[in-house]
Amino acid sequence: MRPFGTTIFAEMSALAVRTGAVNLGQGFPDTDGPPEMLAAAAAALAAGRNQYPPGPGIPELRAAVAAHQRRFWGLEYDPDGEVVVTAGATEAVAAAILALCEPGDEVICFEPYYDSYAASIALAGAVRRPVTLRPDSDGRYAFDPDDLRAAFGARTRLVLLNSPHNPTGKVFTPDELALVAELCQEHDTYAVTDEVYEHLAFTDAPSGHVPLATLPGMRERTLRISSAGKTFSCTGWKVGWASGPAALVSALLRVKQFLTFVNAAPLQPAVAVALALPDDYFTAFRADLQARRDQLIDGLTAAGFDVLVPEGTYFVTADITALDGSDGVDFCRALPERSGVVAVPTQVFYDDPEAGRRLIRFAFCKRPEVLAEAVTRLRRLP
Ligand code: PMP
Ligand code: GLN
Repeated sequence: MRPFGTTIFAEMSALAVRTGAVNLGQGFPDTDGPPEMLAAAAAALAAGRNQYPPGPGIPELRAAVAAHQRRFWGLEYDPDGEVVVTAGATEAVAAAILALCEPGDEVICFEPYYDSYAASIALAGAVRRPVTLRPDSDGRYAFDPDDLRAAFGARTRLVLLNSPHNPTGKVFTPDELALVAELCQEHDTYAVTDEVYEHLAFTDAPSGHVPLATLPGMRERTLRISSAGKTFSCTGWKVGWASGPAALVSALLRVKQFLTFVNAAPLQPAVAVALALPDDYFTAFRADLQARRDQLIDGLTAAGFDVLVPEGTYFVTADITALDGSDGVDFCRALPERSGVVAVPTQVFYDDPEAGRRLIRFAFCKRPEVLAEAVTRLRRLP
């Protein structure tokens, strides 16, 4: 783990605290999630649900996870054996990779990638094979299909796919997913999907969110991962889950039992309540984040940034070239002093930093007045 250092999120949040800057770096909301969920957690604490829950997660949460996937995506999972609760999506991703990969196996992921992927792949002794997403002439992040084809080989064990995608905000299209599915089947590999932003594909994305597991031939080879953190604005709870065929879920559980054993007991019934909220909750949540996205895009554009419009997630990326920036890391380290705002350099999520050298990421999962203050400060950039 020597090369991994401290995560960029910890570094940039510490910088925000030290300088008093507005923190648009690490992606966490500054308001609470649904009151029904918070009340259910408080009630569970008071009712003494405070001891080790079952390893795969409490039955009511597993049932709620299965029902939610049926309701939104038409996917059927048996809550007994095909669903496991984890310590956030982070643990699910790590346990999936540790379960499925032998040392030397290759994991294909799209870069820029979420930082824990590289670490989890390294912990498994596996090798990452990045396929680069680059903004095309319309400002939409895309990959070259030949790059993806070339990444597959005899040692490929799995594709790790994150859509909607952090940090680019890309929502993979049905055509792109069809190519991933075709190659997984041709090379007989697994897929692990990180869908923590499943409810944050905005209405102007070319298609809505499509889980890879819904494509023909994919359910049987896919571990599908999500978590409560984003959808219910409780990133500090770290309640996530994985669903898939029983053999894959039981392999993941075998690893998980020695990573964390079980997860926070009183939070599990509360997340079950949240997953069962009516459709209106999910629609309003997305509309709210979409409005904040638009507010931040307008503000960043007015401040002189060249913005790449995201189709989903909490994040917008911007090119700093027009602001005389040539290196996102230098730019982000100086930004709190220059203008009182924290952002995250996107290049740290690439194996090839050149591809993201001039890109930085801002989080818009903040109250409108906080976004407005950040924009006011950025407009004063010298
Ligand atoms: N995957 C992606 C793409 C993320 O952005 C995040 C950060 N929230 C995670 C996984 C981690 O999720 P959790 O907090 O549920 O572990
Ligand atoms: N997922 C969050 C982000 O991308 C941060 C999570 C973390 O701090 N590890 O900003």
